[in-house]
Amino acid sequence: MSDEPQFPSIPSLGDALIRKKKMEEKKYSIIKCKSCKVKNERLFQEGDYVFKKLIDEICSSCKEITLYICEIFSEWKIPKKE
Ligand SMILES: [Zn+2]
Repeated sequence: MSDEPQFPSIPSLGDALIRKKKMEEKKYSIIKCKSCKVKNERLFQEGDYVFKKLIDEICSSCKEITLYICEIFSEWKIPKKE
């Protein structure tokens, strides 16, 4: 007989941590046109920030240079096995 205390097992927490390590964070920027209100999303690029004006890109819809970043968000994705 042992005097060791019985600890309750908490397997779910460990599993979640391992799962998160295997995932990768993908960041996106949502680009909006001030002129025609069209929204597009693309991968986040270095230097992106909310309300940044994109002076060297034209709107694919109305051809105006009135694009700006209206939102930045990130997503956790499981990397595909190639
Ligand atoms: Zn536009």
